Amino acid sequence: MNQIYDVIVLGLGAAGLFALANLDKGINALGIEKNAAVGRKLLLTGGGRCNLTNTDNVKEMVKAYTDPSFVRPIIYGFNNLKTIDYFAQNGLELVDQNGKIYPKTERSSTVVSFFRARIAKKGHRIVYNETIHDIMRDEDHLTLVGSDRKYKCRSLIVATGGASYPQTGSDGALISKCFEIAKFEAGLCSINISEEKFVKLNGLTIDVMIKYQKRSFFGSLLFAGSALTGPVIMNLSNYVQSNDYFSVDFLPNISNEAIKALLLEKTMQHPKRRFKTAAHEVLNLPDSFINALCNQLDLLDVTLANLKSKDLNKFIDALKACKLKVKSKGALSKATVTIGGIKTTDIDNKTMQLKADDRVYVVGEAVELVGACGGYNLQFAFSSAFRAVEHLNGEKKVVSK
Ligand SMILES: Cc1cc2nc3c(=O)[nH]c(=O)nc-3n(C[C@H](O)[C@H](O)[C@H](O)COP(=O)(O)OP(=O)(O)OC[C@H]3O[C@@H](n4cnc5c(N)ncnc54)[C@H](O)[C@@H]3O)c2cc1C
Repeated sequence: MNQIYDVIVLGLGAAGLFALANLDKGINALGIEKNAAVGRKLLLTGGGRCNLTNTDNVKEMVKAYTDPSFVRPIIYGFNNLKTIDYFAQNGLELVDQNGKIYPKTERSSTVVSFFRARIAKKGHRIVYNETIHDIMRDEDHLTLVGSDRKYKCRSLIVATGGASYPQTGSDGALISKCFEIAKFEAGLCSINISEEKFVKLNGLTIDVMIKYQKRSFFGSLLFAGSALTGPVIMNLSNYVQSNDYFSVDFLPNISNEAIKALLLEKTMQHPKRRFKTAAHEVLNLPDSFINALCNQLDLLDVTLANLKSKDLNKFIDALKACKLKVKSKGALSKATVTIGGIKTTDIDNKTMQLKADDRVYVVGEAVELVGACGGYNLQFAFSSAFRAVEHLNGEKKVVSK
């Protein structure tokens, strides 16, 4: 009853499942999960299809995380190609859809079943319906305090996730209590903006480039009332705070000069045409969007012949460098990932051990950093778990079969 496990894996989401599935058979390991089933968040990923990773160049991949220098050795140690190999060689068929990797079944449940089968093959036991409320650090072991029993181990892998989507089990309660954490914040979420000029564009999508400080983000922006969302906004949300400004280029593939030239050519051909009609024709942007910009600049009834040069410049400015203010970010409870968690400065990124207590390993979303949309967060869950397991398995360079 009061045995001391070699390793306890606490929390069986993507990171914990990977860790437990890859701890050597000879290690006396136990998994503990508060839900009645493992991988509840994993089941929701990729709209139920599970975007496991992607085919990015590994150098580019590292840049998609909020802390590239911390993440570099972790991702290089078990990169996306190794992840693809790991699943494929162990019998999980995959499919590549425009560089995003999914299980061939396009069902997340296949991934959960894959891990469960591999854990069973290793003979590692799982305790379900057990919430750990505290961690006590004795000299020769750690004690995890459950609802009505305690579990002892020599090493602990903390894989309890972040604090978003708490209905999946990851509520951040344990790590807030037991570790020094960076404040939880919503990541990969929508952004509410202060400006109201786009409110009526609800449902419209445009491919844009966003600039924020020294970073650029490309992708689809979706207007959602007084909020903006879509992949480009979700990626931006990993960096911005309330009251920050960012700049949107709604036509990233055409220069200011080229836009001017196109509109001047139209003016020569059709001087009596309304500016907004001509702009819609030459710029190939949705009518409602051009109307919103023209409305804001009082250009709705202006003809090409009457368009003043300063108004054309203002229009191009609104189109190519539209400055918007972050009013707030979407709610943490509905965010795809959690920014914040156990501080990267407290973790050794070669092994995922806590610098202050090398018996404790931290993996997955419990770690402070987050990645972009497109398989980067599951990749980090797997890569960080690999690091910890590799160390615990005794510095082996390959994941055990
Ligand atoms: C809707 C949605 C879609 C997503 N889609 C993708 C995608 O397609 N690709 C991608 O890369 N990322 C995606 N993500 C992000 C990704 O799911 C997470 O980053 C990843 O699942 C984190 O894995 P984890 O194992 O660290 O944490 P979690 O998956 O959150 O697992 C933590 C586990 O620990 C358990 N636990 C927590 N506290 C305790 C405790 N005190 N005692 C016992 N057990 C505890 C929880 O019940 C949970 O099972 C998505 C996220 C969401 C919400």
